[in-house]
Amino acid sequence: MSSRARVILLNAALGPLDYRVPHGMTVQPGSIIVAPLGPRQLIGVVWEEDSFPDVESVGDNRLRNIVGPVDAPPIPETLRRLIEWTADYYLAPIASVLRMTLASMSALEGARTVIEYRATGDLPDRMTEQRAQAMERIGERQGLIRELALIGGVSDAVIRGLVKAGAFEAVEVSIDTPFPRPDPDHAPPQLSDGQASAATEFVNAVRQRDFAPFLLDGVTGSGKTEVYFEAIAAAIREGRQVLVLLPEIALTEPFLERFEKRFGTVPISWHSGLRQSERRRAWRAIASGEAAVVVGARSALFLPYPNLGLIVVDEAHEASFKQEDGVHYHARDVAVMRGLMEKFPVILASATPAIETRHQVELGRYREIKLPARFGGAEMPGIEGINLLTDPPERGRWIAPPLIKAIDETMEKGEQSLLFLNRRGYAPLTLCRHCGYRFQCPNCTAWMVEHRLTKRLACHHCGHVIPSPRFCPECKEEDSLVACGPGVERIADEVKALWPQARTAIVTSDTLWSPAKAAEFVKSVEAGAVDIIIGTQLVTKGYHFPNLTLVGVIDADLGLEGGDLRASERTFQQIVQVAGRAGRGQKPGRVFIQTRMPEAEVIKALIAGDSERFYEVETENRRRANAPPFGRFAAIIISSEDADEAAQVARLIGKSAPPIDGMRVYGPAPAPLSVLRGRHRHRLLIHASRQIDVQSAIREWLDNITWKSGTRVAVDVDPYSFM
Ligand SMILES: [Zn+2]
Ligand SMILES: [Zn+2]
Repeated sequence: MSSRARVILLNAALGPLDYRVPHGMTVQPGSIIVAPLGPRQLIGVVWEEDSFPDVESVGDNRLRNIVGPVDAPPIPETLRRLIEWTADYYLAPIASVLRMTLASMSALEGARTVIEYRATGDLPDRMTEQRAQAMERIGERQGLIRELALIGGVSDAVIRGLVKAGAFEAVEVSIDTPFPRPDPDHAPPQLSDGQASAATEFVNAVRQRDFAPFLLDGVTGSGKTEVYFEAIAAAIREGRQVLVLLPEIALTEPFLERFEKRFGTVPISWHSGLRQSERRRAWRAIASGEAAVVVGARSALFLPYPNLGLIVVDEAHEASFKQEDGVHYHARDVAVMRGLMEKFPVILASATPAIETRHQVELGRYREIKLPARFGGAEMPGIEGINLLTDPPERGRWIAPPLIKAIDETMEKGEQSLLFLNRRGYAPLTLCRHCGYRFQCPNCTAWMVEHRLTKRLACHHCGHVIPSPRFCPECKEEDSLVACGPGVERIADEVKALWPQARTAIVTSDTLWSPAKAAEFVKSVEAGAVDIIIGTQLVTKGYHFPNLTLVGVIDADLGLEGGDLRASERTFQQIVQVAGRAGRGQKPGRVFIQTRMPEAEVIKALIAGDSERFYEVETENRRRANAPPFGRFAAIIISSEDADEAAQVARLIGKSAPPIDGMRVYGPAPAPLSVLRGRHRHRLLIHASRQIDVQSAIREWLDNITWKSGTRVAVDVDPYSFM
């Protein structure tokens, strides 16, 4: 009797395949295995047969043998269901979702050991000065030869000599050194009454071991982190795993520091910046259940935790939880789904919750826990508007007189200021004043952004860079090129001109590209070595600088330019977040926003400090337009290097749109970013009411259409980007 297994291989182009399980081998659904495909061998996971009833059955005699199981725990059943749900909901190949679970090939190579060395307690027959020094400095420590040599301050040869002489011995250890366990009782915090009662709710929910979605809604600085830390402590005590999702790697470092103060050790981090060996070690600790707390970017969500007891999504309103390529999933929404399937609470923490999340609260699906007051009695800063039409800056400058005065006053008091402009580089556009030539990216419908610090022009969409030009490529005129509009580097120049003595720091993904750089920045601000910070959205969250008392928003209207569904909401969230950086300590903060649209609803709400009013108006607008969360959107994006082919496929898809009551299809139309990385792009937008199964409709619709292999057709369910 031969047994067979249905397998999902890590190849997005393939559906499930059947294999023979050779005698003596046992696999079960969830087992990670190696299987042959043509001449190659691929990693795959054994799956339930009835998950794919449509797969054509292959005769036993045509089956190939599974090569063998991988030395790693099986993928838990609930996670297999989540992977299926994600693939189904976001119309993605199941293998593409599974790839996010099996995110470290090295981890799948199985347990590996390495030889380390440690002192035996015996002295060598011949003692030299170097040997004595090495032995004393190394003491009881254990490590590789080169590590011990480094600690001992000697050459590798000295350590090898000590091994030969019997003073050190070899020990075989796993290359995946265990992680220290966070201690829930290391440093329990002093909580305010409001914080304490919120914490109790979470702790009870963790102990209940049941699905419970929460919105933890508190103004910036109200101490949300301390509160959800108590939920984490409860989960650790229950012996369960915890995942904390952060929107950006740059926020990891401050988080790690706070976590270590509370729990005595840092959690395990997971993000794209990990080295292969770190990824491997983290993955194996997660899959074995040894990892107690993991903090990571959205990709940490699909890892195979066998024993998850809590997910916290911090800054849950952030759009970066939405993945914009590959599987277009929203980590916040999938986190809630994981909590539902695996029966544990999920905490969405935010000072500016998304309208979608507030709507779930109104429907009674999520519980809202409010933290009204700022921790330690600090006041929320008031926001003042500066009308750029009546109070403009000098020509060619961007900081208006009232903001200059406020910075003067802040400098005099020895306090810190933050100027916010969500634009990297020096200037968003360079043009020739002689012939009008504009520097455009050759691969994208986008201007080249000048980066003066690195003396380059760069495309922020595809990464194309050229050295800063000295003359116009069109008319060859020298000194005719002008920078148009400001980026943070240009604001920094203006600051230097206005306050030559001020110490400045520019904070963008160009300057804070690693956790170490971010840590360095935090230290210098905390040490008082910076007077004025100029930054993009990277500085709007996570940081806590008690001496920072002034925030100036250079262009509050910038985010409204795109005009998409969430433009007002995004602007509101961003400005509330950046305003929240001011006055977090004992000293009160002030916030100025420069605007040309003082009458815009969002600007009025910000200045009035009336977030409820803003949410009401915005929610009402969405309801009237039947936009999310009331109606649904999905996008189909067609792209090809061949412009005609892209247009043709887009037209064909548009013509084949199924007539469904309650569903409208707009387009196709060239995308706003009509060329991206050399690919011509067209979009269709599908607008449907809640009741309609948009996914099934799109699946059937596209199933009947074929296109050439160079053309890509991506589906984006619940899109955030409309570019
Ligand atoms: Zn020119
Ligand atoms: Zn480009």
